[in-house]
Amino acid sequence: TKIITSKDVHLYYGKKEALHGINLDFEEHQITALIGPSGCGKSTYLRCLNRMNDLIKGVTITGSIKLEDEDIYAPQTDVVNLRKRVGMVFQQPNPFPFSVYENVAYGLRLAGEKDKHVLDERVETSLKQAAIWDEVKDHLYENALAFSGGQQQRICVARVLAVQPEVVLLDEPTSALDPISSAKIEDTLMNIRHEYTVIIVTHNMQQASRISDKTAFLLNGDLVEFSKTEKMFIHP
Ligand code: ADP
Ligand code: ADP
Repeated sequence: TKIITSKDVHLYYGKKEALHGINLDFEEHQITALIGPSGCGKSTYLRCLNRMNDLIKGVTITGSIKLEDEDIYAPQTDVVNLRKRVGMVFQQPNPFPFSVYENVAYGLRLAGEKDKHVLDERVETSLKQAAIWDEVKDHLYENALAFSGGQQQRICVARVLAVQPEVVLLDEPTSALDPISSAKIEDTLMNIRHEYTVIIVTHNMQQASRISDKTAFLLNGDLVEFSKTEKMFIHP
């Protein structure tokens, strides 16, 4: 089943057209990699999927993007709820300046969850899914900013997973990380693929070929190829 369907998406920064009519669908519970040279529109397209571009002044978007059957740009869309259903991890780790526990519990508290057992359970499960539990379990009440960049990024992944979104967007999540932390993020994505739909922007072709089921290749704001990853990359 398709979880996201985008049809003829055009995006303008002022008068400059950055996306020239993108038609792209995402299958539930698959990992899709968005690749292409710097400036081709990968981040811009990703930000369309949870309406992060709304935060940038002077942006105009046309076309349609559906999450299941709902048009996410419809006037009645609850954008806060949309961003819970379509979570995002950024290139730079950006934990809040409070404890590991409160970072991960944040979205659940916002949603009104007060049961300590529920919170403890979700925090632990999410940190385990993000392959960081063993490193933080004895430091849950320490400031998240005290951890390394790679650890912070996995805490950020746990923070997104804690609210159990349907789709997880990641914008070059490993390009600021060391190889070991990158590998842990990749393992996490492989582990969660059966529960979540994952869309990852990467400039790392090897990463795309290692972890993704499908790969979309953008060039100058156009989608130029979209196919099964195994067909896209030639293995020596
Ligand atoms: P990529 O993620 O593939 O590197 P981007 O989506 O960041 O590409 O950028 C696509 C194009 O849109 C580039 O030409 C970039 O300079 C431009 N762009 C991105 N963000 C903005 C913005 N906030 N305002 C104006 N132009 C932007
Ligand atoms: P990325 O490729 O991950 O989007 P960039 O370095 O291209 O990273 O962009 C970093 C930030 O600057 C983004 O928020 C993007 O929207 C903004 N940006 C990129 N290009 C432009 C531009 N030409 N004018 C204004 N803002 C831009």
